[in-house]
Amino acid sequence: MHPLLSRDLKRLPELLEQARNYAVSVLADLPSRPAAVPPAPKDAEPLPEEGIGSAAALEHFQRRWATGFSGSAGSRYLGFVTGGATPAAVVGDWLTGVFDQNVVSSSDSCATDLERETVGWLRELFGLSAEHSGAFVTGATMSNFVGLAIGREWVGEQLGVSIADDGLAAVGDIPVLSSSPHSSTFKALSMLGIGRNSVRRIPSLPGREAVDVDQLAAELEALDGRPAIVVANAGTVNTVDFDDLRALAELRQRHRFWLHVDAAFGGFAALSPRYADLVAGLDQADSICIDLHKWLNVPYDSGVQFSRRPDLQVRIFQNYATYLGLPGPDPDFVHLTPESSRRLRALPAWFTLTAYGRQGHREIVERDAALAQELGNRISAAPHLRLLAPVRLNTVCFTLAEQPTAEKIDALANAIARSGQTFLSPTVHQGVPALRAAVSNWRTTEDDLPKIMDALGCPAA
Ligand SMILES: *Cc1c(COP(=O)(O)O)cnc(C)c1O
Repeated sequence: MHPLLSRDLKRLPELLEQARNYAVSVLADLPSRPAAVPPAPKDAEPLPEEGIGSAAALEHFQRRWATGFSGSAGSRYLGFVTGGATPAAVVGDWLTGVFDQNVVSSSDSCATDLERETVGWLRELFGLSAEHSGAFVTGATMSNFVGLAIGREWVGEQLGVSIADDGLAAVGDIPVLSSSPHSSTFKALSMLGIGRNSVRRIPSLPGREAVDVDQLAAELEALDGRPAIVVANAGTVNTVDFDDLRALAELRQRHRFWLHVDAAFGGFAALSPRYADLVAGLDQADSICIDLHKWLNVPYDSGVQFSRRPDLQVRIFQNYATYLGLPGPDPDFVHLTPESSRRLRALPAWFTLTAYGRQGHREIVERDAALAQELGNRISAAPHLRLLAPVRLNTVCFTLAEQPTAEKIDALANAIARSGQTFLSPTVHQGVPALRAAVSNWRTTEDDLPKIMDALGCPAA
């Protein structure tokens, strides 16, 4: 064994204690860490020829990198849709590395059962029936990718071919209908060979980001029985708008399409009776995308995909090898997602659900949504700001009251980032340059609002 490795092995308890102490101090200082740290340019260091051992590496990391990390795990990082990590989720994440299980097959470990149990819990949490099976993936992009891959295979099935076996050329173009798809849908369609240009944008309802169901029905009618994929959106990123999932599911009585729902963070509305109506009908989807590193507050990278057609899923993702065996009736995860070797990504989710349960996570959703509502109230009361949409769940979309231009919004976003108090993403909503503040962290409380408003130019009286 290399002498540094054998020294570290002997000192393992001490090294872990050092890492633990450091982690405790990082988390204790999280409230004062800047929400965002615009990075200064750095020259890459050469590959270490001789290592320095783990203790010195930890010190080097602290000096060279840690000071430049954002406070994205903290309570006032409102950019994109960014969750933190609950205490139990952090413990689960640490132990994922400690046990280093490969959830590829069920022959050598109960890790597969742990993942299946956790997927089952998530299914219940989001109000889905046992008709949905699922698997962990790295995030919502991969979840959309898997759902759309199954939709692609379903289209092939309708036309009497297996696209997994014979390729997309066997069916030609696949129409994909959606109103306000997330950018990751285009990315997934590119990876799937369906192509970004296959998306037919369906108009949304006036002033909304939710699909106009009549227009969608008309477009489906025009397909004249040709099978298609509909991507429904449950929680758009700008204004967190929701397609009417019940009405979309209903359309399947007359039209042939695969219904995929991107509920990356909007799916969490199901956790609260107050908001569950927003996702009524979710269970009727053919495939569903939900992100976990957002509102479940587990560390990156974690998402889950659900679908009603595990048989088609296996056709696509099966990874037959003599040592893995053929997928049986309850296929190993290696046959269900793009990855073969996989970390035990379910463990942080298992920990946080075990630690806080459905009620604990409902509380996070309801508190964050109430804080977004209050933030929206304060922003609409500010003379220099203007709301662009009602706050439906956890995101406030707003702009400058007077002549918002891309330059002014960028300047404001940069000034906010430099303040370190909060971090917001710039966007363009219906042609208007805007900002959005998404509240998705378990740590955020009422106490954060004055500091956020201060960064927006509204100092506390
Ligand atoms: C965040 C998000 C995605 C992509 O998620 P990643 O986890 O970043 O891959 C997809 N759809 C929606 C609606 C999202 O909010």
